[in-house]
Amino acid sequence: MSKFLASQWQVLTPYTPGEQPQDRAYIKLNTNEAPFAPAPEVIAAVSSSVMENLCLYPDPECGMLRDALASQHGLARGNVFVANGSDDILNFLFKAYAANGGKAYFPDVTYGFYKVFAALHGADWQEVPVRDNFTIDWRDYFGKDGLIVLANPNAPTGAYLAQSDIKRIVGGHPGSIVVVDEAYIDFGGASCVPLVRRYDNLVVVQTFSKSRAMAGARLGVAFAQEALIRDLELFKYVTNPYAINLMTMKAGLAAISAAPYYAAQCRAIARTREETAAQLTDKGFQVLPSMANFLFLSHPAVSGKDLYLKLKAQGILVRHFDAPRTRNHIRVTIGTDKQMAAFIEAAAAIAGGDDV
Ligand SMILES: *Cc1c(COP(=O)(O)O)cnc(C)c1O
Repeated sequence: MSKFLASQWQVLTPYTPGEQPQDRAYIKLNTNEAPFAPAPEVIAAVSSSVMENLCLYPDPECGMLRDALASQHGLARGNVFVANGSDDILNFLFKAYAANGGKAYFPDVTYGFYKVFAALHGADWQEVPVRDNFTIDWRDYFGKDGLIVLANPNAPTGAYLAQSDIKRIVGGHPGSIVVVDEAYIDFGGASCVPLVRRYDNLVVVQTFSKSRAMAGARLGVAFAQEALIRDLELFKYVTNPYAINLMTMKAGLAAISAAPYYAAQCRAIARTREETAAQLTDKGFQVLPSMANFLFLSHPAVSGKDLYLKLKAQGILVRHFDAPRTRNHIRVTIGTDKQMAAFIEAAAAIAGGDDV
């Protein structure tokens, strides 16, 4: 940091993204990316004809993309906000509803970026402990008025909160904004998007990064009633009106029309997830039930850190979160069947005490 940086920023702790190593080829199971390619239509959409238009600014309204997303859910354009990744949306949400001492609540074990945004905007935030089995109890949010942010399914645990419980939280806090971050909803859960019609304090956030195999394109979506979408639009138009680039817009549109392709891929991932969990359990691992495209697991004979390091030495990259409640565990993205077989074999050998 330079001596010129304002003192209020010198205390910020940045989010630590998962490793994206460029040095060697890994079996990469650390950042929940899809192991499959985008749909053929998506690849075709980002073609030379699009490139010729790169000399022009993209549509700042993102009209076609928002219309396509809206019609998928029987909503209107005014219920949809798109941004350069859902992280951008989460940033705006903390800025809009918790800045400068506003209250914010999220689980103690969840997506690490919530804390970073809360600190960036000077929120008065509180982590709400998840249960010992890492599930969320809606009662723990009762009476907590402020911005409530829940990832569902949660990360890095995969724990899923039933829609009836989410309704209790949203309905029980009519004066608070409740954000449901559905980055992993396509791998098994029921989306809360239809609920935005009924609740004026609900924002549902989704991303094309995981289930639509477009992490590199950066496209996030928020669904909410029009007044809330206008709040988000405000921040877009005071920072970067062209946040969605032309290629991402075209790719996103094509991905929406390829819904059956992605649904089939997500079903396959869910199948591989359940098979992997069963095999790991057989080998003595403790595996949390997951509705996402990853598993959160531990083994009594090896620490999470050792498991992570020894797997990495063998060219298999997983994620380890070195915090008190999570350091015994690793988070493993569901890859192809072949990648998972390699992972299971290596992890079992490490836990079994094989010297590697
Ligand atoms: C991956 C992830 C995001 C970020 O998604 P982008 O759209 O790639 O910015 C947001 N929330 C959760 C819970 C995630 O796991």
